[in-house]
Amino acid sequence: MQLYKEQKLKITNSLTGKKEDFKPLNEGHIGMYVCGPTVYSNVHLGNCRTFMSFDMIFRYLRHLGFKVRYVRNITDAGHLVDDADEGEDKIAKKARLEKIEPMEVVQRYTLDFHKILEQFNFLPPSIEPTATGHIIEQLEIIKEILAKGYAYEIKGSVYFDVNKFNEHFEYGKLSGRKLEDMIANTRELTAQSDKKSPQDFALWKKAEPQHIMRWPSPWGDGFPGWHLECTAMSTKYLGETFDIHGGGMDLKFPHHECEIAQSEASNGHSPVNYWLHANMLTMNGKKMAKSTGNNILPGEIFSGKNTILSKPFMPSVVRFFMMQAHYTSILDLSNDALLASEKGYHKLMDAMDNLKDLDAGGKSDFNVTEWRQKCYDAMNDDFNTPILIANLFEAVKHINLIKEGKEGITQSDKELLQKTMNDFVFDVLGLEHKGEIGQDSDKLQGVVELLIQLRNEARNNKDFATSDKIRDQLLALGIQLKDGKEGTSFSVS
Ligand code: AMP
Ligand code: ZN
Repeated sequence: MQLYKEQKLKITNSLTGKKEDFKPLNEGHIGMYVCGPTVYSNVHLGNCRTFMSFDMIFRYLRHLGFKVRYVRNITDAGHLVDDADEGEDKIAKKARLEKIEPMEVVQRYTLDFHKILEQFNFLPPSIEPTATGHIIEQLEIIKEILAKGYAYEIKGSVYFDVNKFNEHFEYGKLSGRKLEDMIANTRELTAQSDKKSPQDFALWKKAEPQHIMRWPSPWGDGFPGWHLECTAMSTKYLGETFDIHGGGMDLKFPHHECEIAQSEASNGHSPVNYWLHANMLTMNGKKMAKSTGNNILPGEIFSGKNTILSKPFMPSVVRFFMMQAHYTSILDLSNDALLASEKGYHKLMDAMDNLKDLDAGGKSDFNVTEWRQKCYDAMNDDFNTPILIANLFEAVKHINLIKEGKEGITQSDKELLQKTMNDFVFDVLGLEHKGEIGQDSDKLQGVVELLIQLRNEARNNKDFATSDKIRDQLLALGIQLKDGKEGTSFSVS
């Protein structure tokens, strides 16, 4: 039997603001769309948090036995610096500044994005479509919206008519805004704007002669508006209505609001049953963002090369840090928080090691079946990873007591404990274990032993800068040194 039949999932739906029983459109199958990155710069750790939240959600849905089609796009066209309608295309701007082709910008930062996600042990989505690969689909949607009377063309651009839409549907229902309030709070349109109303947003923008990324359309050469690609790609791969749409909280308005409007205007019904929004990673209490400079790159964390860090941190430690917060809570990054997570991570991994060697006996002092259900209850309650982790540490306590001979466990309970710990720690949270070096890694073994020797010499000479450097750099590569009574040993993740 599939796990989802016994484990009943509840999800906080941003559209209703309520925690709801999750029921997919087609039993056993889930369609999930998550807005991907705009590939004009390196992803910072804040971006990674949102994608990691959805990686964890994807992992848990799969673990429950659902067949998930997970679509996460690459935004490689059409994002304007200012807002949806004004300013320069971010990718084109970067291309101009670096004197390279826009597609070189896109290629460079798509590769960077994939590399970082791999380091963090993300599962790849089922489909990763690009905006530029779906221009035809976007044009078709614009034609449909125009035909239904919810858009207007003016001087080669097409705008969505928010007021007209609001006569028949409700603009603002996701973000909890009222169109009248939005109108009352907006500035007058600037003289250059062709829009009828400031709330209207571009579906298609006319390309000025200097604009590099451009495509032919019935309204002349241009490029799609910001919000359209996600409507086009989600509809194409998941259908007019699908189960889950996710993204960062900051995308709720206007991006997701506009996605809803576009779908309703063209299809006549709501596109998504459950909207999920991941909360922000902050640093010094402020949102991590590219534009303000208040950000840190994953590579800086892995190498320790940033002034806020006292040392490098492994990807799994950062992942563990992220998972310690609920995906809808704000999380603040600091060196102290990472140090605490590192300690917790190693404690958990040590317990995973000890678990394998526990001696089973005639009775269990720990109700593993009840504990297992508590782990599922946590995840079924809107993917509550902090509560799950608290439960995992409850098991760690018992594992250590059993190891010390102060508690017992039966063979069947030990097997259930092992399976459940493996499922949650590795499959659901996506943490990686420090493994043993394989038989064919003699060279690595030799190199690390040599470095341990050099570190010992440095310590004997009181050259702690060098000895710490060796330890920290090895850790950044996933090789952890452990000093014990019998000398220094190491493990590899
Ligand atoms: P962008 O490439 O700017 O479209 O952002 C990609 C994703 O990162 C979006 O889902 C954003 O909501 C998300 N994001 C941006 N900044 C942060 C942050 N500080 N914390 C969490 N997610 C963020
Ligand atoms: Zn999107």
